[in-house]
Amino acid sequence: MKRYSAFAIAREALRNHTGWERAWASPEPKPRYDAIIVGAGGHGLATAYYLGKNHGIRNVAILEKGWLGGGNTGRNTTIIRSNYLQDPSAAIYEKARSLYETLSQELNYNIMFSPRGVMMLAQTEHEVRGYLRTAQANALQGVSTEFIPPKRVKELCPIIRLDGPRYPVLGALWQARAGTARHDAVAWGYARACSDMGMHVIQNCEVTGIRREGGRVVGVDTSRGPIDCDKLGIVVAGHSGRLAEMAGFRLPIESVALQALVSEPIKPVMDVVVMANTVHGYMSQSDKGEMVIGGGADGYNNYTQRGSFHHVEETVRALIETFPMLSRLKMLRWWGGIVDMTGDRSPIISKTPVEGVFINCGWGTGGFKAIPGSGWAMAELMARGEPGPLAAEFSLGRFREGRFIDESVAAGVAH
Ligand SMILES: Cc1cc2nc3c(=O)[nH]c(=O)nc-3n(C[C@H](O)[C@H](O)[C@H](O)COP(=O)(O)OP(=O)(O)OC[C@H]3O[C@@H](n4cnc5c(N)ncnc54)[C@H](O)[C@@H]3O)c2cc1C
Repeated sequence: MKRYSAFAIAREALRNHTGWERAWASPEPKPRYDAIIVGAGGHGLATAYYLGKNHGIRNVAILEKGWLGGGNTGRNTTIIRSNYLQDPSAAIYEKARSLYETLSQELNYNIMFSPRGVMMLAQTEHEVRGYLRTAQANALQGVSTEFIPPKRVKELCPIIRLDGPRYPVLGALWQARAGTARHDAVAWGYARACSDMGMHVIQNCEVTGIRREGGRVVGVDTSRGPIDCDKLGIVVAGHSGRLAEMAGFRLPIESVALQALVSEPIKPVMDVVVMANTVHGYMSQSDKGEMVIGGGADGYNNYTQRGSFHHVEETVRALIETFPMLSRLKMLRWWGGIVDMTGDRSPIISKTPVEGVFINCGWGTGGFKAIPGSGWAMAELMARGEPGPLAAEFSLGRFREGRFIDESVAAGVAH
Protein backbone atom coordinates (compact mmCIF):
# COMPACT_ATOMS: atom_id res chain seq x y z
CA MET A 1 0.00 0.00 0.00
CA LYS A 2 1.35 3.41 -0.95
CA ARG A 3 1.59 5.83 1.96
CA TYR A 4 -0.35 9.08 1.86
CA SER A 5 1.92 12.13 2.19
CA ALA A 6 2.19 15.76 1.16
CA PHE A 7 4.55 14.59 -1.58
CA ALA A 8 1.93 12.08 -2.88
CA ILE A 9 -0.73 14.82 -3.04
CA ALA A 10 1.61 17.07 -5.03
CA ARG A 11 2.57 14.18 -7.36
CA GLU A 12 -1.08 13.25 -8.01
CA ALA A 13 -2.05 16.88 -8.57
CA LEU A 14 0.50 16.99 -11.37
CA ARG A 15 -0.81 13.80 -13.05
CA ASN A 16 -4.53 14.56 -12.71
CA HIS A 17 -5.07 12.14 -9.79
CA THR A 18 -4.67 9.04 -11.94
CA GLY A 19 -2.22 7.25 -9.63
CA TRP A 20 -4.26 6.74 -6.43
CA GLU A 21 -4.70 3.08 -5.41
CA ARG A 22 -7.93 1.66 -4.03
CA ALA A 23 -7.86 2.11 -0.26
CA TRP A 24 -8.82 -1.53 0.42
CA ALA A 25 -9.23 -4.68 -1.69
CA SER A 26 -12.59 -6.41 -2.32
CA PRO A 27 -11.64 -10.11 -2.38
CA GLU A 28 -13.86 -13.16 -2.76
CA PRO A 29 -14.31 -15.02 0.56
CA LYS A 30 -11.89 -17.92 1.22
CA PRO A 31 -13.32 -21.25 2.51
CA ARG A 32 -11.64 -20.81 5.91
CA TYR A 33 -10.11 -18.14 8.18
CA ASP A 34 -8.47 -18.32 11.61
CA ALA A 35 -10.88 -15.64 12.80
CA ILE A 36 -14.03 -14.07 11.41
CA ILE A 37 -15.42 -10.78 12.63
CA VAL A 38 -19.10 -10.14 11.85
CA GLY A 39 -19.77 -6.42 11.31
CA ALA A 40 -17.54 -3.89 9.58
CA GLY A 41 -18.42 -0.98 11.83
CA GLY A 42 -15.71 0.82 13.78
CA HIS A 43 -15.62 -1.77 16.57
CA GLY A 44 -15.37 -4.77 14.22
CA LEU A 45 -12.69 -3.17 12.07
CA ALA A 46 -10.70 -2.00 15.10
CA THR A 47 -10.89 -5.54 16.55
CA ALA A 48 -9.46 -6.97 13.34
CA TYR A 49 -6.77 -4.30 13.18
CA TYR A 50 -5.49 -4.95 16.72
CA LEU A 51 -5.74 -8.75 16.19
CA GLY A 52 -3.21 -8.26 13.41
CA LYS A 53 -1.12 -5.50 14.92
CA ASN A 54 -0.93 -6.59 18.57
CA HIS A 55 -1.30 -10.39 18.25
CA GLY A 56 -0.03 -11.29 14.75
CA ILE A 57 -3.35 -12.95 13.76
CA ARG A 58 -3.83 -11.92 10.14
CA ASN A 59 -5.79 -14.72 8.47
CA VAL A 60 -8.93 -12.77 9.29
CA ALA A 61 -12.15 -11.85 7.44
CA ILE A 62 -14.48 -9.02 8.40
CA LEU A 63 -17.96 -9.78 7.02
CA GLU A 64 -20.38 -6.92 6.49
CA LYS A 65 -23.96 -7.30 5.28
CA GLY A 66 -24.09 -3.78 3.81
CA TRP A 67 -21.23 -1.37 3.25
CA LEU A 68 -18.47 -0.79 5.77
CA GLY A 69 -19.20 1.96 8.24
CA GLY A 70 -22.86 2.02 7.10
CA GLY A 71 -24.25 1.16 10.54
CA ASN A 72 -24.04 3.36 13.60
CA THR A 73 -20.39 4.16 12.88
CA GLY A 74 -21.47 6.30 9.93
CA ARG A 75 -24.56 7.71 11.66
CA ASN A 76 -23.31 9.10 14.95
CA THR A 77 -22.56 12.63 16.10
CA THR A 78 -18.85 11.80 16.69
CA ILE A 79 -18.42 12.95 20.29
CA ILE A 80 -15.30 11.57 21.95
CA ARG A 81 -14.82 11.89 25.71
CA SER A 82 -13.78 9.71 28.64
CA ASN A 83 -15.32 11.44 31.68
CA TYR A 84 -17.27 8.40 32.91
CA LEU A 85 -17.93 7.68 36.57
CA GLN A 86 -17.01 4.04 37.19
CA ASP A 87 -13.37 2.88 37.09
CA PRO A 88 -13.72 0.17 34.38
CA SER A 89 -15.53 2.63 32.08
CA ALA A 90 -13.07 5.47 32.62
CA ALA A 91 -10.21 3.04 31.88
CA ILE A 92 -11.53 1.80 28.52
CA TYR A 93 -12.87 5.17 27.33
CA GLU A 94 -9.62 6.93 28.29
CA LYS A 95 -7.58 4.24 26.51
CA ALA A 96 -9.72 4.90 23.43
CA ARG A 97 -9.40 8.69 23.72
CA SER A 98 -5.64 8.48 24.05
CA LEU A 99 -5.40 6.14 21.01
CA TYR A 100 -7.52 8.64 19.04
CA GLU A 101 -4.89 11.33 19.71
CA THR A 102 -2.39 9.62 17.38
CA LEU A 103 -4.67 7.44 15.24
CA SER A 104 -4.24 9.53 12.07
CA GLN A 105 -0.47 9.07 12.21
CA GLU A 106 -0.73 5.39 13.13
CA LEU A 107 -3.14 4.52 10.30
CA ASN A 108 -1.61 7.03 7.87
CA TYR A 109 -5.20 8.20 7.32
CA ASN A 110 -6.59 11.55 8.42
CA ILE A 111 -9.42 10.76 10.84
CA MET A 112 -9.70 14.48 11.65
CA PHE A 113 -9.51 14.06 15.42
CA SER A 114 -10.33 17.47 16.85
CA PRO A 115 -9.76 17.74 20.62
CA ARG A 116 -11.83 20.91 20.85
CA GLY A 117 -13.19 20.21 24.35
CA VAL A 118 -16.52 18.83 25.55
CA MET A 119 -18.66 20.44 28.25
CA MET A 120 -21.60 18.79 29.99
CA LEU A 121 -23.84 21.53 31.35
CA ALA A 122 -25.11 21.33 34.91
CA GLN A 123 -28.60 22.89 34.92
CA THR A 124 -29.98 21.58 38.22
CA GLU A 125 -28.47 21.26 41.72
CA HIS A 126 -28.66 17.51 41.27
CA GLU A 127 -26.49 17.71 38.15
CA VAL A 128 -23.99 19.99 39.91
CA ARG A 129 -23.55 17.38 42.65
CA GLY A 130 -23.32 14.57 40.08
CA TYR A 131 -20.64 16.29 38.00
CA LEU A 132 -18.62 17.37 41.04
CA ARG A 133 -18.60 13.69 42.00
CA THR A 134 -17.54 12.66 38.47
CA ALA A 135 -14.76 15.27 38.47
CA GLN A 136 -13.46 13.82 41.76
CA ALA A 137 -13.67 10.26 40.40
CA ASN A 138 -11.89 11.32 37.20
CA ALA A 139 -9.07 12.91 39.24
CA LEU A 140 -8.51 9.56 40.98
CA GLN A 141 -8.71 7.69 37.65
CA GLY A 142 -6.12 9.96 35.99
CA VAL A 143 -8.72 11.39 33.55
CA SER A 144 -8.25 15.12 33.14
CA THR A 145 -11.57 16.93 33.75
CA GLU A 146 -12.71 19.91 35.82
CA PHE A 147 -15.94 21.49 37.03
CA ILE A 148 -16.12 25.03 35.67
CA PRO A 149 -18.36 27.97 36.78
CA PRO A 150 -20.97 29.68 34.52
CA LYS A 151 -18.63 32.59 33.69
CA ARG A 152 -16.09 30.19 32.18
CA VAL A 153 -18.90 28.33 30.32
CA LYS A 154 -19.89 31.61 28.66
CA GLU A 155 -16.26 32.43 27.78
CA LEU A 156 -15.84 29.02 26.11
CA CYS A 157 -19.20 29.13 24.34
CA PRO A 158 -20.55 32.67 23.91
CA ILE A 159 -23.81 31.58 22.18
CA ILE A 160 -25.08 29.92 25.38
CA ARG A 161 -27.84 31.62 27.34
CA LEU A 162 -26.95 31.20 31.02
CA ASP A 163 -30.33 32.23 32.50
CA GLY A 164 -32.73 30.08 30.47
CA PRO A 165 -36.46 30.19 31.24
CA ARG A 166 -36.55 26.85 33.05
CA TYR A 167 -32.97 25.73 33.68
CA PRO A 168 -30.14 28.24 34.32
CA VAL A 169 -26.58 27.09 33.62
CA LEU A 170 -24.97 26.47 37.03
CA GLY A 171 -21.62 25.21 35.73
CA ALA A 172 -20.27 22.37 33.60
CA LEU A 173 -18.05 19.33 33.62
CA TRP A 174 -15.29 20.26 31.15
CA GLN A 175 -12.87 17.88 29.44
CA ALA A 176 -10.44 19.95 27.39
CA ARG A 177 -8.87 17.03 25.42
CA ALA A 178 -12.22 15.53 24.46
CA GLY A 179 -13.73 16.40 21.06
CA THR A 180 -14.79 14.89 17.75
CA ALA A 181 -13.40 12.93 14.76
CA ARG A 182 -14.65 12.17 11.25
CA HIS A 183 -16.67 8.96 11.74
CA ASP A 184 -16.41 7.52 8.20
CA ALA A 185 -12.68 8.14 8.18
CA VAL A 186 -12.27 6.06 11.35
CA ALA A 187 -13.90 3.08 9.58
CA TRP A 188 -12.07 3.72 6.31
CA GLY A 189 -8.69 4.15 8.02
CA TYR A 190 -9.01 0.88 9.93
CA ALA A 191 -10.32 -0.94 6.82
CA ARG A 192 -7.35 0.24 4.77
CA ALA A 193 -4.90 -0.85 7.46
CA CYS A 194 -6.60 -4.28 7.78
CA SER A 195 -6.54 -4.79 4.02
CA ASP A 196 -2.87 -3.80 3.99
CA MET A 197 -2.16 -6.59 6.53
CA GLY A 198 -3.74 -9.10 4.12
CA MET A 199 -7.08 -9.35 5.91
CA HIS A 200 -10.29 -9.66 3.86
CA VAL A 201 -12.89 -6.93 4.28
CA ILE A 202 -15.95 -8.46 2.57
CA GLN A 203 -18.94 -6.21 2.00
CA ASN A 204 -22.44 -7.33 0.92
CA CYS A 205 -21.93 -10.56 2.84
CA GLU A 206 -24.64 -11.19 5.44
CA VAL A 207 -24.11 -13.82 8.12
CA THR A 208 -27.29 -15.92 8.19
CA GLY A 209 -26.27 -18.76 10.51
CA ILE A 210 -23.58 -19.84 12.97
CA ARG A 211 -22.44 -23.46 12.68
CA ARG A 212 -21.44 -25.33 15.84
CA GLU A 213 -20.13 -28.82 16.59
CA GLY A 214 -19.86 -30.18 20.12
CA GLY A 215 -20.46 -26.78 21.71
CA ARG A 216 -17.82 -24.93 19.69
CA VAL A 217 -18.02 -22.75 16.60
CA VAL A 218 -16.84 -24.21 13.28
CA GLY A 219 -18.03 -21.58 10.83
CA VAL A 220 -20.77 -19.33 9.53
CA ASP A 221 -23.36 -19.46 6.77
CA THR A 222 -23.47 -16.32 4.71
CA SER A 223 -25.30 -14.86 1.73
CA ARG A 224 -22.12 -15.75 -0.21
CA GLY A 225 -21.85 -19.33 1.02
CA PRO A 226 -20.47 -21.13 4.08
CA ILE A 227 -17.13 -20.06 5.57
CA ASP A 228 -15.21 -21.99 8.26
CA CYS A 229 -13.36 -20.40 11.16
CA ASP A 230 -11.70 -21.22 14.50
CA LYS A 231 -12.84 -18.06 16.24
CA LEU A 232 -15.82 -15.80 15.69
CA GLY A 233 -16.25 -12.23 16.91
CA ILE A 234 -19.80 -10.84 16.86
CA VAL A 235 -19.59 -7.04 16.62
CA VAL A 236 -22.92 -5.92 15.17
CA ALA A 237 -24.32 -3.31 17.63
CA GLY A 238 -28.14 -3.21 17.27
CA HIS A 239 -28.23 -6.63 15.56
CA SER A 240 -26.42 -8.42 18.42
CA GLY A 241 -29.59 -10.13 19.65
CA ARG A 242 -30.16 -11.67 16.21
CA LEU A 243 -26.60 -13.01 15.93
CA ALA A 244 -26.73 -14.37 19.50
CA GLU A 245 -29.93 -16.19 18.57
CA MET A 246 -28.10 -17.79 15.61
CA ALA A 247 -25.41 -19.00 18.04
CA GLY A 248 -28.04 -20.30 20.49
CA PHE A 249 -27.79 -17.92 23.45
CA ARG A 250 -29.64 -14.83 24.68
CA LEU A 251 -28.34 -11.34 25.46
CA PRO A 252 -29.60 -8.74 27.97
CA ILE A 253 -29.86 -6.15 25.18
CA GLU A 254 -32.64 -4.01 23.73
CA SER A 255 -32.41 -2.45 20.27
CA VAL A 256 -33.86 1.01 19.69
CA ALA A 257 -33.47 3.71 17.06
CA LEU A 258 -31.44 6.75 18.15
CA GLN A 259 -31.78 9.93 16.13
CA ALA A 260 -29.68 12.93 15.14
CA LEU A 261 -30.05 15.94 12.83
CA VAL A 262 -28.04 18.75 11.26
CA SER A 263 -28.90 22.35 10.43
CA GLU A 264 -28.05 24.29 7.33
CA PRO A 265 -24.36 25.33 7.34
CA ILE A 266 -23.52 28.67 8.95
CA LYS A 267 -20.34 30.60 9.76
CA PRO A 268 -18.36 29.40 12.80
CA VAL A 269 -20.31 30.12 16.01
CA MET A 270 -19.08 27.44 18.39
CA ASP A 271 -15.74 25.64 18.69
CA VAL A 272 -16.55 23.29 21.57
CA VAL A 273 -19.05 20.43 22.02
CA VAL A 274 -21.90 21.15 24.45
CA MET A 275 -24.21 18.60 26.03
CA ALA A 276 -27.30 19.78 27.86
CA ASN A 277 -28.56 16.65 29.58
CA THR A 278 -31.42 18.19 31.56
CA VAL A 279 -33.20 19.66 28.55
CA HIS A 280 -31.86 16.68 26.59
CA GLY A 281 -29.88 17.61 23.56
CA TYR A 282 -26.30 18.22 22.53
CA MET A 283 -24.60 20.14 19.80
CA SER A 284 -21.34 20.80 17.99
CA GLN A 285 -20.47 22.52 14.72
CA SER A 286 -19.11 20.45 11.85
CA ASP A 287 -16.24 21.56 9.64
CA LYS A 288 -18.82 22.30 6.92
CA GLY A 289 -20.60 24.67 9.32
CA GLU A 290 -23.70 22.59 10.06
CA MET A 291 -24.87 22.45 13.67
CA VAL A 292 -24.75 18.71 14.52
CA ILE A 293 -27.52 17.96 17.01
CA GLY A 294 -28.10 14.77 18.95
CA GLY A 295 -31.69 13.81 19.60
CA GLY A 296 -33.25 11.12 21.72
CA ALA A 297 -33.84 7.41 21.42
CA ASP A 298 -37.25 6.09 20.40
CA GLY A 299 -39.34 5.06 23.39
CA TYR A 300 -39.98 1.56 22.01
CA ASN A 301 -37.80 -1.24 20.62
CA ASN A 302 -37.42 -1.22 16.84
CA TYR A 303 -35.04 -1.77 13.92
CA THR A 304 -35.86 1.30 11.81
CA GLN A 305 -32.79 3.27 10.74
CA ARG A 306 -34.86 6.42 10.27
CA GLY A 307 -35.45 9.82 11.81
CA SER A 308 -38.88 11.22 12.66
CA PHE A 309 -40.42 14.71 12.83
CA HIS A 310 -41.42 14.60 16.48
CA HIS A 311 -37.80 14.03 17.60
CA VAL A 312 -36.64 17.00 15.53
CA GLU A 313 -39.30 19.18 17.08
CA GLU A 314 -38.75 17.98 20.66
CA THR A 315 -34.95 18.23 20.53
CA VAL A 316 -34.80 21.63 18.89
CA ARG A 317 -37.53 23.02 21.17
CA ALA A 318 -35.52 21.92 24.20
CA LEU A 319 -32.17 23.21 22.93
CA ILE A 320 -33.56 26.64 22.00
CA GLU A 321 -33.90 27.39 25.73
CA THR A 322 -30.11 27.22 26.07
CA PHE A 323 -29.19 28.27 22.50
CA PRO A 324 -31.78 30.89 21.39
CA MET A 325 -29.88 31.45 18.09
CA LEU A 326 -31.08 28.00 16.93
CA SER A 327 -34.61 29.32 16.46
CA ARG A 328 -33.51 31.12 13.28
CA LEU A 329 -31.88 28.07 11.66
CA LYS A 330 -33.38 25.65 9.14
CA MET A 331 -32.86 21.96 9.87
CA LEU A 332 -31.39 20.20 6.85
CA ARG A 333 -31.69 16.44 7.42
CA TRP A 334 -32.20 13.84 10.12
CA TRP A 335 -31.58 10.12 10.47
CA GLY A 336 -31.46 7.19 12.90
CA GLY A 337 -29.27 4.23 13.84
CA ILE A 338 -30.08 1.05 15.80
CA VAL A 339 -28.36 1.15 19.16
CA ASP A 340 -27.83 -1.77 21.52
CA MET A 341 -28.78 -0.88 25.09
CA THR A 342 -27.90 -2.84 28.22
CA GLY A 343 -29.60 -2.31 31.58
CA ASP A 344 -26.54 -0.71 33.21
CA ARG A 345 -25.68 1.32 30.07
CA SER A 346 -22.25 -0.36 29.89
CA PRO A 347 -20.87 -2.53 27.09
CA ILE A 348 -20.34 -6.30 26.90
CA ILE A 349 -16.92 -7.59 25.77
CA SER A 350 -17.08 -11.23 26.62
CA LYS A 351 -16.74 -14.93 25.97
CA THR A 352 -20.10 -16.60 25.32
CA PRO A 353 -21.63 -20.00 26.10
CA VAL A 354 -20.35 -21.20 22.69
CA GLU A 355 -16.63 -21.96 22.69
CA GLY A 356 -14.76 -19.82 20.17
CA VAL A 357 -17.55 -17.22 19.94
CA PHE A 358 -16.85 -13.80 21.45
CA ILE A 359 -19.14 -10.81 21.60
CA ASN A 360 -18.62 -7.06 21.69
CA CYS A 361 -21.83 -5.05 21.99
CA GLY A 362 -23.95 -2.90 24.29
CA TRP A 363 -22.21 0.38 23.46
CA GLY A 364 -25.66 1.83 23.08
CA THR A 365 -25.79 5.54 22.40
CA GLY A 366 -22.10 6.20 23.06
CA GLY A 367 -19.72 3.74 21.43
CA PHE A 368 -18.06 5.84 18.73
CA LYS A 369 -15.72 7.33 21.31
CA ALA A 370 -14.72 3.84 22.44
CA ILE A 371 -13.77 2.33 19.08
CA PRO A 372 -9.96 2.09 19.44
CA GLY A 373 -10.07 0.96 23.09
CA SER A 374 -12.87 -1.53 22.43
CA GLY A 375 -11.04 -3.02 19.44
CA TRP A 376 -7.87 -3.29 21.53
CA ALA A 377 -9.69 -5.11 24.35
CA MET A 378 -11.74 -7.39 22.05
CA ALA A 379 -8.63 -8.40 20.08
CA GLU A 380 -6.88 -9.30 23.34
CA LEU A 381 -9.89 -11.40 24.39
CA MET A 382 -10.12 -13.21 21.04
CA ALA A 383 -6.37 -13.82 20.77
CA ARG A 384 -5.89 -15.17 24.30
CA GLY A 385 -9.31 -16.63 24.96
CA GLU A 386 -9.42 -14.68 28.24
CA PRO A 387 -10.15 -10.98 28.84
CA GLY A 388 -7.30 -8.59 29.59
CA PRO A 389 -7.58 -5.82 32.21
CA LEU A 390 -9.64 -3.50 29.97
CA ALA A 391 -12.39 -6.07 29.28
CA ALA A 392 -12.41 -8.08 32.50
CA GLU A 393 -15.33 -6.24 34.15
CA PHE A 394 -17.48 -6.16 31.01
CA SER A 395 -18.32 -9.88 30.89
CA LEU A 396 -21.78 -11.29 30.24
CA GLY A 397 -21.54 -12.93 33.67
CA ARG A 398 -22.03 -9.58 35.43
CA PHE A 399 -25.75 -9.69 34.66
CA ARG A 400 -26.07 -13.08 36.37
CA GLU A 401 -23.89 -12.11 39.30
CA GLY A 402 -25.30 -8.61 39.82
CA ARG A 403 -21.95 -6.82 39.27
CA PHE A 404 -23.45 -3.98 37.24
CA ILE A 405 -21.32 -1.06 36.04
CA ASP A 406 -23.95 1.64 36.39
CA GLU A 407 -23.27 4.43 33.89
CA SER A 408 -26.84 5.61 33.52
CA VAL A 409 -25.78 9.13 34.58
CA ALA A 410 -22.59 9.43 32.50
CA ALA A 411 -24.33 7.91 29.47
CA GLY A 412 -27.69 9.52 30.28
CA VAL A 413 -27.92 11.90 27.34
CA ALA A 414 -28.14 10.01 24.10
CA HIS A 415 -24.64 9.81 22.65
C1 LIG B 1 -27.73 9.03 15.98
C2 LIG B 1 -26.57 8.47 16.77
C3 LIG B 1 -25.70 9.34 17.40
C4 LIG B 1 -24.61 8.82 18.13
N1 LIG B 1 -23.71 9.70 18.66
C5 LIG B 1 -22.60 9.23 19.28
C6 LIG B 1 -21.61 10.14 19.76
O1 LIG B 1 -21.71 11.36 19.59
N2 LIG B 1 -20.53 9.62 20.39
C7 LIG B 1 -20.37 8.29 20.59
O2 LIG B 1 -19.40 7.88 21.21
N3 LIG B 1 -21.29 7.39 20.12
C8 LIG B 1 -22.38 7.82 19.45
N4 LIG B 1 -23.32 6.94 18.96
C9 LIG B 1 -23.13 5.50 19.18
C10 LIG B 1 -22.16 4.91 18.18
O3 LIG B 1 -22.49 5.30 16.88
C11 LIG B 1 -22.16 3.38 18.28
O4 LIG B 1 -22.01 2.96 19.61
C12 LIG B 1 -21.00 2.79 17.48
O5 LIG B 1 -20.89 3.39 16.21
C13 LIG B 1 -21.21 1.30 17.33
O6 LIG B 1 -20.25 0.83 16.42
P1 LIG B 1 -20.27 -0.68 15.99
O7 LIG B 1 -19.09 -0.91 15.13
O8 LIG B 1 -20.43 -1.53 17.20
O9 LIG B 1 -21.65 -0.82 15.19
P2 LIG B 1 -22.06 -0.46 13.70
O10 LIG B 1 -21.31 0.70 13.17
O11 LIG B 1 -23.55 -0.37 13.69
O12 LIG B 1 -21.56 -1.72 12.90
C14 LIG B 1 -22.18 -2.97 12.97
C15 LIG B 1 -22.21 -3.54 11.57
O13 LIG B 1 -22.69 -4.88 11.62
C16 LIG B 1 -23.37 -5.12 10.41
N5 LIG B 1 -24.20 -6.31 10.55
C17 LIG B 1 -25.34 -6.45 11.30
N6 LIG B 1 -25.83 -7.69 11.14
C18 LIG B 1 -24.99 -8.35 10.30
C19 LIG B 1 -24.98 -9.67 9.75
N7 LIG B 1 -25.94 -10.55 10.04
N8 LIG B 1 -23.96 -10.00 8.91
C20 LIG B 1 -22.99 -9.12 8.59
N9 LIG B 1 -22.97 -7.86 9.08
C21 LIG B 1 -23.95 -7.48 9.92
C22 LIG B 1 -24.15 -3.84 10.19
O14 LIG B 1 -24.54 -3.70 8.83
C23 LIG B 1 -23.17 -2.78 10.65
O15 LIG B 1 -22.43 -2.20 9.60
C24 LIG B 1 -24.42 7.42 18.23
C25 LIG B 1 -25.30 6.54 17.58
C26 LIG B 1 -26.36 7.06 16.83
C27 LIG B 1 -27.28 6.10 16.12
